[in-house]
Amino acid sequence: MGIATINPANGQVGKTFSPLDTAELEDRLARSATAYASYRATTHSERAGWMRAVADLLDEEAAATAALLTLEMGKTIRAARAEIAKCAAGCRYYAEHAAQMLADEVVEAGAVQATRAYVRWEPLGPVLAVMPWNFPMWQVIRFAAPTLMAGNVALLKHASNVPQTALYLEDLFRRAGFPQDVFSTLLIGSDRVETVLRDERVVGVSLTGSTEAGRSVAALAGEVLKPAVLELGGSDPFLVLPSADLEKAAEAAATARCQNNGQSCIAAKRFVVHADVADQFESLFAKALGALVVGDPAEEGADVGPLATERGREDVEELVADAVEKGATVVVGGERPPRPGWFYPPTLLTGVTRDMRMYTEEVFGPVAQLHRVADLDEALALANDSAFGLGSNAWTNDPAEQERCARELQAGMVFLNGMTTSYPELPFGGIKTSGYGRELGQLGIRAFCNAKTVWVGESGSGDATTARPE
Ligand code: NAP
Repeated sequence: MGIATINPANGQVGKTFSPLDTAELEDRLARSATAYASYRATTHSERAGWMRAVADLLDEEAAATAALLTLEMGKTIRAARAEIAKCAAGCRYYAEHAAQMLADEVVEAGAVQATRAYVRWEPLGPVLAVMPWNFPMWQVIRFAAPTLMAGNVALLKHASNVPQTALYLEDLFRRAGFPQDVFSTLLIGSDRVETVLRDERVVGVSLTGSTEAGRSVAALAGEVLKPAVLELGGSDPFLVLPSADLEKAAEAAATARCQNNGQSCIAAKRFVVHADVADQFESLFAKALGALVVGDPAEEGADVGPLATERGREDVEELVADAVEKGATVVVGGERPPRPGWFYPPTLLTGVTRDMRMYTEEVFGPVAQLHRVADLDEALALANDSAFGLGSNAWTNDPAEQERCARELQAGMVFLNGMTTSYPELPFGGIKTSGYGRELGQLGIRAFCNAKTVWVGESGSGDATTARPE
């Protein structure tokens, strides 16, 4: 299926869309470049006004937008509403703080033989965003709000299974008052990303998606020498140590693994538990997973809806079958329910070993693996025995253990006694094959800026070269 809405709760094909043809794509790129030429000169306060209007529209239209997310990718209606509220808050945050985050950074002039020296944060131009379907609004907003506030313009290539959300986003920014073409949605398949990124009017790319997609786009960005931010896959560890509040940890573990129907890059996926509390934690965790209601995502009572695509469910089933065949034990779940749609139940496996695919691969569905370890050394070694390095969690009330986890977990983010999430205030991103660069926070808003050094000498004293010839 090309670019289309297919309801994951019943497999029914909804609206289908034709991709832009060559002339239409060229027209979009040209209009984006034209929009940038004037948009870059707008003030922070003008941009902030439009961004606040985006937030207001998001709030006003939340019910209909939430229903669209549920229809296109099977997110539960409660989770969809929460995602939209988060988007509105994110827009307001950048409206409020962008000017301060991008204020000139003054350097002590005497140290560089200047009368004045500073760094300005200037926009770069049209930035391409290649985005996934799993948080179809938030992934785009967390890119677009800072990027537009910095004076860039956005070109969105959204995942092919969320086209109506992609078109809604374009319409949203336009209706909020942003000048025409400052935010454009390109309905194209992934095979046309290369054409867009090679185009000389496009200055950079932000991709959130699988490690494979990231590798391919990173190679191209390297060839054309354009900045790239890559938010890729993850298989986050979740450590539980004896001093932890086990009930809280188990509850958070079930949410962390099953939120968004188990399809979150920062979902905790590998549960690494100290032997002293492993039995107790396993039973609490199994109980919490078993209590989650799998059901029609449009219904208020559902905790876990279907996986977004048929292929996605098959991938999960293959990983579980591989582990079971090689000796893992299913404690909870493990069988698709007999109903239409791409449902898969919350599942817990023990006895997962290094020869099983899920030890090293990302499971993008509600499947947890629980490992027992003898001590913190072993826990950290197992946690770090992964090619991924996105988020990580550790549950302990021992300050020395907290410090060790913060220092030694190989990840872009460490959350202690809480589950990993994203905040506009904090940088978000990973290391290793989870990608590079950061979204959100000050690092995020500066990702697509020119850090321009400005040096001002005394009148008649020459430039930096003559002032400091070495
Ligand atoms: P995906 O298949 O990589 O798709 C993501 C986006 O990339 C889509 O727009 C897709 O377009 C496009 N794409 C795919 N292959 C491409 C290629 N070779 N060149 C250029 N573009 C390409 O990932 P997904 O299945 O939608 O999302 C799940 C993955 O995203 C998981 O691995 C998850 O961990 C990761 N993720 C990471 C983060 C993070 O912040 N680190 C957040 C969310 C998700 P089409 O839809 O047209 O194929």
